Amino acid sequence: MILTKSISFISDRCNKCGKCSLICPKGVIYLNGFFRPIFVNLSRCNACKRCERICKSNAIEVLL
Ligand code: SF4
Ligand code: SF4
Repeated sequence: MILTKSISFISDRCNKCGKCSLICPKGVIYLNGFFRPIFVNLSRCNACKRCERICKSNAIEVLL
């Protein structure tokens, strides 16, 4: 498990669908070259939890 500033991402659960990256309205989530989400610009995260809700693999938890 990778714990960043306020988002927990459990990479083993991620199926690399990319939906979290597409739905984030703040440009916090990008996909790396292996379609694995990476969380950047965390200061811009408004804790809307759209990424958490859209992830059917329960790989993301917004910790606020
Ligand atoms: S929505 Fe979930 S399964 Fe899909 S890329 Fe994001 S973290 Fe991975
Ligand atoms: S909680 Fe909202 S703003 Fe923060 S990373 Fe997830 S989708 Fe983006």
